[in-house]
Amino acid sequence: MELSKEIRDKYKAVIGLEVHAQMLTKSKAYSDDINEYGSAPNTNVSVITLGHPGTLPKMNKKTIDYAIKMGIACGCDIAEEQHFARKNYFYPDLPKGYQITQDTTPICTGGSVLIKDESGNEKLIGLTRIHMEEDAGKSIHDIDPFNTLIDLNRAGVPLIEIVSEPDIESSQEAYNYLTEVRKLVRYLDICDGNMEEGSLRCDANVSVMLKDATEFGTKVEVKNMNSIRNVQRAIEFEISRQIAAVEAGEKVYQETRNFNALSGETTAMRTKEAAMDYRYFPEPDLQPIKVTQEHVDSIAAEMPPLPNALFKKYTKELGLSDYDAQILTDLKEIALYFEDIIEHTNNYKAAANWLMGDVKSYLNEKAISIKEFPISAERIADLIKLIDSGKVSNNLASQKLFPAMLTEEGTAEDIASKNDWIQDSNEDSIKDMIRAVFQENPSEYERFKAGEKKLMGFLMGQLMKKSQGKADPKSASKLINELVDE
Ligand code: ADP
Ligand code: MG
Repeated sequence: MELSKEIRDKYKAVIGLEVHAQMLTKSKAYSDDINEYGSAPNTNVSVITLGHPGTLPKMNKKTIDYAIKMGIACGCDIAEEQHFARKNYFYPDLPKGYQITQDTTPICTGGSVLIKDESGNEKLIGLTRIHMEEDAGKSIHDIDPFNTLIDLNRAGVPLIEIVSEPDIESSQEAYNYLTEVRKLVRYLDICDGNMEEGSLRCDANVSVMLKDATEFGTKVEVKNMNSIRNVQRAIEFEISRQIAAVEAGEKVYQETRNFNALSGETTAMRTKEAAMDYRYFPEPDLQPIKVTQEHVDSIAAEMPPLPNALFKKYTKELGLSDYDAQILTDLKEIALYFEDIIEHTNNYKAAANWLMGDVKSYLNEKAISIKEFPISAERIADLIKLIDSGKVSNNLASQKLFPAMLTEEGTAEDIASKNDWIQDSNEDSIKDMIRAVFQENPSEYERFKAGEKKLMGFLMGQLMKKSQGKADPKSASKLINELVDE
């Protein structure tokens, strides 16, 4: 759907996201069945998960703690008492015939997620609520050509649902919001954030309105996006579709639509009129659970550093660029490794450069995570100190010392002296070597002297060979220029 810029600019989009995150607990939400992705189908299924008569659910306290963590991270109010509700509906992958959820009393209310808007400015996206519930089983349509197969391992897996206010104004903001939410749940270690495997899922509510209108348009809910990028695509399509409909004098129907990743389009799934009546009522089998302030405080005391706080620290206190800080905080493991390096050195910029440069390249090349990286943060700090002391050049450190540290034990300095890499800062000996290079390469020397500046590279190469890489390139090139006219 191609809209002219003129028409597109008449409207603004209103977007609210509902994100389901599977909690990384060992057992399920209301039973001690194992919570594990990828087990053989229907092996983690007890009579409690199946809802057999006479069985009783039991609340997994870890789910509550994880929801509280997310609530603290987003600055939500945390309810003192947890009440649960039954949401009734009939579907083959829901063996109990109802889902135990929270209806009018979510564990978290209010709060926000800090994102970047389209111009890169900070923007707060308000949260309506976060509540706890359980997942349904999985219907599998693509294995047996005649039947739908059902795997109930997922039934009863704990979820939190994070519902945003309709504060998101573009598909790019939605992308940024989801990226932040995923980063948060990963930092908190409460969800692996894997959208492809469905451990993080997002429904997007989208409406459009004329820029000067005062009332929201009718919202449409879009489902089935298995990546953050696809959420963005689905929203972009939906915005255009709705604007085109309004422009054509048609009505936007309140409905649920399905996103097709191949076509990039959404199609109608069910209308609001066909929406189910879930007949919510208080869950009679679970008592309300009290969450004391002390308990919330104890969780707060054990929170890991959060990406936004680290970003602020790196830009405001350590003087790193936004770009560096962004990359350093993208992954918690990288951020923690950086934290570890700067425990041992104050050269923050060098620490960032090493981590984002040589270290990251090595990790990419070997396809390993920083947890498997053989050089400790303290040794990287040693390496930086050795360079700063002038004992080895950056070049030598990157080309010889760093690779050696990957396989050899000991401090950077030990390895450098063992290999005789400690730099000759002695100007006289470098000067002697430069003179020798001139003598051994008379024609290059003459041409360089006559002004053929590009021969500097050649002369430097010869000098490096002679000094076995120990000459500091910066001061050496200065010396070459000085000595050429001797
Ligand atoms: P429902 O009762 O249909 O579930 P809610 O009011 O609970 O609707 O909102 C669900 C989600 O839809 C929330 O994320 C909310 O921010 C978003 N939302 C509400 N109204 C609109 C709208 N007019 N346009 C886009 N999103 C909306
Ligand atoms: Mg709702």
